[in-house]
Amino acid sequence: MTHVNTFTLKNNLIHAENVPLTHIAETFGTPCYVYSQKALTQALECFSAGYQGMQHLVCFAVKSNPNLAILNLFARLGAGFDIVSGGELARVLAAGGDASKVVFSGVGKTADEMRAALEAGIFCFNVESASELVRLNDVAGFMGKVAPVSLRVNPNVDAKTHPYISTGLKSSKFGVAYEDALDIYLQAAQMPNIAVHGVDCHIGSQITELSPFLDAFDRILALVDALASNGIHIQHIDLGGGIGICYHNETPPDFASYAAAMREKLGNRKVKLVFEPGRALVGNAGVLLTQVEYIKPTETKNFAIVNAAMNDLMRPALYDAYHEIKAVKPRDATETNPEICYEIVGPVCESGDFLGHDRKLVLQEGDLLAIMSAGAYGMSMSSNYNTRPRAAEIMVNQDQCHVIRQRERIEDLFALEAILPNIT
Ligand SMILES: *Cc1c(COP(=O)(O)O)cnc(C)c1O
Repeated sequence: MTHVNTFTLKNNLIHAENVPLTHIAETFGTPCYVYSQKALTQALECFSAGYQGMQHLVCFAVKSNPNLAILNLFARLGAGFDIVSGGELARVLAAGGDASKVVFSGVGKTADEMRAALEAGIFCFNVESASELVRLNDVAGFMGKVAPVSLRVNPNVDAKTHPYISTGLKSSKFGVAYEDALDIYLQAAQMPNIAVHGVDCHIGSQITELSPFLDAFDRILALVDALASNGIHIQHIDLGGGIGICYHNETPPDFASYAAAMREKLGNRKVKLVFEPGRALVGNAGVLLTQVEYIKPTETKNFAIVNAAMNDLMRPALYDAYHEIKAVKPRDATETNPEICYEIVGPVCESGDFLGHDRKLVLQEGDLLAIMSAGAYGMSMSSNYNTRPRAAEIMVNQDQCHVIRQRERIEDLFALEAILPNIT
């Protein structure tokens, strides 16, 4: 079992832990993201439990949910972090994260970002090209430092997931080609301000089968052995993130079987294992709470227009992703208000602005809906499109609610803009 379900129906009301979502909507308004501290804690603990007794580091992928409270919770539970920008590094440090447990991924690291990470003393740079290696060597040399690196190697396996979140194929912009890896490692080993520490891969996201992970690990191990015969001894293997969650009817590998499979593959090699899970730790620990503004029957479809939109949760519009949508206070169907199929859409002026198609619900205007499994790539991909303030974020711990991000104020949305002095 990977996740405790902490969003359950009690007294005909969906609760987050012990708090009814109706109470959260009344107190903090909608749309808002609601997270369960217990679900977050258990996910991280359950993920780590698989590696007891061996050297390992779990680096939460910050981009999946960068809220300071979530980073701080994970930091207090001992996690490290996988970052993809200088901004994410600043967040991790502001949240009390330990720089020495940070891995830095990403294909476009700037010299400034490299400097900040070297200054902070991160665990490892996951280098994604030969040019990046040259730049990192220069930047580190200028600072009189040595940069710890892994090469992100592209094992050329098919993660069998949505093409936008598949990253381990040859055609991807990520990592270095498997065939080139040995050569680039040999170059790295010659660079005075580079210390080769590891090998890294990350093959994609929302992966629901074990086999792509196993195939990738096999290829990485073959490379580690080849490096050893060339005198390069690897201290850690970073297997990336990508374990999927259940949004609808997927059956992703649970953490225990994933861990057992990885341990078995590793055998008795004395290397540390690093992981970069994002979605698997936070996805099912959050919901997006929204209210039905209008019900709009048309000749072909019934629309339920809600006050959350693609700017709040982009996954349906971007990937045609499925999120379960539940009535917070389910109604019984009646003759005048039967169960019907709704298009759940937002107010944004785009036909792609939908949150769910063909959802069978019994609804009235004013009803609250919970968009489930919205804890990952929800708030983090949100925008201000249509000058919509970003939603508030609330953390629930048993019967307590904490505002972990205030709803944005409209005046803040254009505070950085300026009007031209003249127009002639
Ligand atoms: C996005 C990302 C992750 C996290 O992926 P999940 O599918 O959320 O686990 C890990 N590592 C890297 C390099 C990433 O880009």
